[in-house]
Amino acid sequence: MKKEDFKTKKILELMEKEYKDAGIELDFKTPLQLLVATILSAQCTDERVNQVTKSLFKKYKGASDYAHADLKELEEDIRPTGFYKNKAKALKNSCKKILDDFKGKVPDSLEELITLPGVGRKTANIVLGNAYGKQAIAVDTHVNRVSNRLGLVNSDDPDEIERELCKIIPEDKWTSATHWFIHHGRRICKARKPLCNICFLRDYSNYYLSKYTPDLLKKTLS
Ligand code: SF4
Repeated sequence: MKKEDFKTKKILELMEKEYKDAGIELDFKTPLQLLVATILSAQCTDERVNQVTKSLFKKYKGASDYAHADLKELEEDIRPTGFYKNKAKALKNSCKKILDDFKGKVPDSLEELITLPGVGRKTANIVLGNAYGKQAIAVDTHVNRVSNRLGLVNSDDPDEIERELCKIIPEDKWTSATHWFIHHGRRICKARKPLCNICFLRDYSNYYLSKYTPDLLKKTLS
C-alpha cells in the first residue's frame, strides 16, 4: 500500500470511529425540502435555516407553491437566512424548472440537478447523498479546509477537491465522509483557530506537522 493510501485509510478509520453517527444537520422530509433548505443554508447556520423552514414547509408544500409564490412574500418568509432576495429568486426559478422539465419532482442525477437555477455541484451532491441515498462528496467550506490541512488535497477549487477526494476515498464512503469532514471542521478544525491540541488526526495532518514538528514532517514526507 502506498504511503498516501495508508494515510487516507487511517484518517477515514479514525473519523468513522469518532463521528459514526454524524449526519446532515438540516431538517427535511423530502428531496424538495432538502433542496430548499440547502439553498437557504448558503452563508447561514443550519440552526437558523431549521428555524425558518419549520414554518416555511407548512406554508409551501410542493414545487408549485414556490413557483407560483409572490416573490416579495417569499422573500419575507426566508428573510432571516440572509441574502433573501437571491435565495427567493433561486427557489422560485428552480421550482419553475422542476415543474416544467421534471414533472414536479426534484431530479435525482447530478447532471439534471445542476441545470436548476442557483444549484451548483455542492447543493446537488447534498441532495443526492442525503435525500436520494446516493454516494456523493459535497465540498463546502469545511470539507475544503479540512482536506487541505490534512494534506489529502492541495487545491482551493471545489470541483478539483471533489475530483481528488473521489479518487482517494472509497465510493461507499463518499456521503459519510462528507459528514465527517463537516463535523470535524465545525467542532475541531475550526477556520480561525484549529484545536490541534485535542485533534485525533494530528499525527496525519500536514498543517499540524509542518507547524509544530517541521523535522518530523520532513522525515514523513521523505
Ligand atoms: S491537527 Fe489541527 S489542522 Fe490538522 S486536522 Fe486537526 S485541527 Fe485541523
